[in-house]
Parts: sequence; structure tokens; C-alpha cells
Amino acid sequence: MEKAKRYKPVIGLEIHVQLSTKTKAFCNCSADVFDLEPNTSICPVCTGQPGALPVPSMEMFELGVRLGLALNCKINRYSRFDRKNYFYPDLPKGYQITQFFYPLAEHGFLEVEGKRVRIRRIHLEEDAGKLMHAGDNITEADYSLVDMNRCGVPLAEIVTEPDIESPEQARIFMEKLRSILRYIGVSSGDMEKGAMRCDANISVVDTLTGKQSNKVEVKNMNSFRFVEKALEYEYERIVEHLEKGLDVERETRGWNLSTKTTVSMRSKEEAHDYRYFPEPDIPPVVLDDEFIEKIKATIGELPEQRLKRFVETYGLNTKEVWALVEDKEIGDLYEEAVKKSGEPKEVANWFLTELFRLYGEYEKEKLFVSADTFVEVINLMKDGTISRNMAKDVFQESLLTGKMPKQIVEEKGLKQIDDTALIEQIAKKVIESHPKEVETFKAGKEGLFGFFVGQVMKELKGKANPKTVNEILNKLLRN
Ligand SMILES: [Zn+2]
Repeated sequence: MEKAKRYKPVIGLEIHVQLSTKTKAFCNCSADVFDLEPNTSICPVCTGQPGALPVPSMEMFELGVRLGLALNCKINRYSRFDRKNYFYPDLPKGYQITQFFYPLAEHGFLEVEGKRVRIRRIHLEEDAGKLMHAGDNITEADYSLVDMNRCGVPLAEIVTEPDIESPEQARIFMEKLRSILRYIGVSSGDMEKGAMRCDANISVVDTLTGKQSNKVEVKNMNSFRFVEKALEYEYERIVEHLEKGLDVERETRGWNLSTKTTVSMRSKEEAHDYRYFPEPDIPPVVLDDEFIEKIKATIGELPEQRLKRFVETYGLNTKEVWALVEDKEIGDLYEEAVKKSGEPKEVANWFLTELFRLYGEYEKEKLFVSADTFVEVINLMKDGTISRNMAKDVFQESLLTGKMPKQIVEEKGLKQIDDTALIEQIAKKVIESHPKEVETFKAGKEGLFGFFVGQVMKELKGKANPKTVNEILNKLLRN
């Protein structure tokens, strides 16, 4: 039996998302700490000084509810925080405030490739600080420093059921989730900035024997690619164990970027290793229906809904459309260009080929893109002023310089030659100087037609209207 068919991966994700609130979860310190000097956004509350009292931010609840609703969850009206006790140097209080027994939202789902991945729960919690090691790594560091700026930054933890069936599906799940986070303005979803972090657990079922391996947790994956790569690696490693009849240890492993492997970090602790107990300083939070309904009304169109609308209204292909809707700004730009040009398919084509190609080659922020760029370039092509090939060059130059396509065409004298008399004159000259090719063509070698088109184009420096060239050559060669 084929290996991939016999051994089925069972994958669940735990994703921490930084909520884009102005303040931290339980105090008024700024939560936007990514670029700040260490320990400049801290106070007695978020660093857990004796006597300091935490007060939960309602903005955190607003964003959490919005996220829960967007992921089709049931919102729990009653929330109570708990203390998760453990010791680590980046956790000055010695505990983390989190919703263990009463999560904000439960029982949702997110559709990936037509399959529902169930969301078990979404709960709110605070982030811990960050250790900075002198030198390259923790084991050889002479000393370590603690930056507490992240202490108390509000997070939503999204826990899925183990419904994901492949490493690729895990990556797509993450991409879809990030797209939603950005659409609803709940989080930047920037993995490089720590605003989205993913732990994955994977086990493998041997479908022949029905046996399932122990679960392994993989941490430290800070890009969607790495999530996929680490899970692929882990799948192969577990299958190898199963094939040799070895036990798979229940443990936590980390993704090592330089070796492209996972390495054991520690054996997995169970929930009861953390002593949880109710947070005594924060009274329970009860949300009313009005609060939730108000938030529901602000969610707006989600990427999946937009995708369906684009396919139905513009007649586009589902596979291509995801690239147009994944990023809300790109989707907005596309719609604006379609509205102004009335050419949904042509505009989509320019986005998917030329725009994305340039995004790949240049820094996105330095390119000048507007809906009018597409409209002008498409119109210049449609009215025969420039050929499609010229249009591509003009488009690129427009994005690099900020000059509009019309202006570029005028300044460079790029106008397409559509002068029938001139083209006919050149075509005759080409035919006269290639008697052999003409003979072969007339004897039935149709493929040579392109050769004549090419020669005429070359004579006119690529500026001739290809349609006119084709018509004239047809007339001259086939009569
Ligand atoms: Zn604070």
C-alpha cells in the first residue's frame, strides 16, 4: 500500500493572534510595542507589581467578539479570567491571565478548500515578555535581558479541532485566517512581527491497523511556509517510527530554520501541570446581546464572501480570484478599476500577471499603483494606440515612475503604427526580399506566416498594429 495513502496525518493548530487594541489587556500602556525601546511601555499593572489592579479593556472584548463571529463561533456572554501559574523569567508575575474555563467564543469553523475545519475555542489572554540573549543563542549566552514591553499585550488564542488533513492544508488555513483578521481589522497578522504565532500538533493514523501515534507539538514557526515544512518533516519522521514499529514520543519540538528539521525541546506538559485558579482581581465580564449585535453589524464582507461575489458578478475563475481577494486593499483596487473600465476580465488579467509580477520584483511600497493606471493602459490598448506588448512596458514604467500611461506614450512617441499604406509598403518589401520563404509558404508550410509577421514588425521597430500587419500579409501572401 502506498505510504501517503496508508498513513494519514491528523493536524490541529493553536494560533496566537495579537489584537490591534490601542492599550494593553489590563492597563493603559500602549499595546503597539513592536518598534519601541525595551521596557518603555510598561507600568505596575502589566509588570505585576504588588497592589496593582488589572482592569480589562473593553476594546479587547470588542475585537475578540468580532473575531469569534467572523469564525462562526458561539459567543459566550459570561467570561471569567484565570491565572495560569508557571515560572519563566519573561513572566514577572509568575502567572499569566487567561480564559481557561470560560473562553470568549466556542464551536466555530473556517472553510478550507471546501472542508470545514472546526474551531474548538477562542480565548483572550495576555502575552508574556521577551528574553534577549547576549550572543547568538541561549545556551552560550553570558547573560540574558528581559524586555517587558509585550507583557500584557492582548492576545486571542484560536484552537482548532484536529481536522486538518495535510501540511499544505495547515498553511492554507493560516493564510485564510490572516486574510480574515485583516479584513475585520482585528490584527495585523504579521508573523514576522510576532502578531501571529502558530503551534501545531500532529499525529499519524495507520489506516491499515487503525493505530494512531502519539501527538507531537511543533513550535517556533514564524512563517506560513515553515508551518508547512515543519509539518511535512514531522509527518515523515513519525511515519518512519511507525514503519519501524517504534513508539513516537509525546513531546514538544521546535522548527530549526538552519537545519530545516525539528528538534526536541521538552516532553509535553499536561494542562494540570499549570495550576489554574480564578483571577481574584478581575470580576467576571458579562456581555449583553446589544453589545454583540452592534459588533456583528460592523463585520462587513469577508474574503470568502467576496470571492463568491467576484466569481458570480465578474465571471472569473475561483482559483485565480483568491489572489484578488486575499488582501483587502488589492480587492478594493480591483473593484475600483473594474468600475472605471467596465472590463472585469481584462483587469483581472493585468492584476494576476503584470501587477503581481512587479510586486515580486520590486518593493511594493515603492510602486505607484492606482485604479487609473489600469484603466488608461487598457484603453490605450483597446483603441489601438499601443500593442499589448507595448502596454506591458508602459504599465511597468508607470508603476516605477508614477507617470500615467498616456503621458509615457506621448513623451516616448510610442504610438502604434496603424498606417495601412506604410505597413503594406514594408510588407511588400519583406516579401520581395524573401522569395524562397514565399515559395515554401505557398507550397503549404503555413507556419512560415509568423516569420513574415516578425520581419514586418522588426522593420517597424515593433510599433505596428499586429492586427493590421496580419490582415495585409494575409491579403498579399494568400492571393
Ligand atoms: Zn501597563
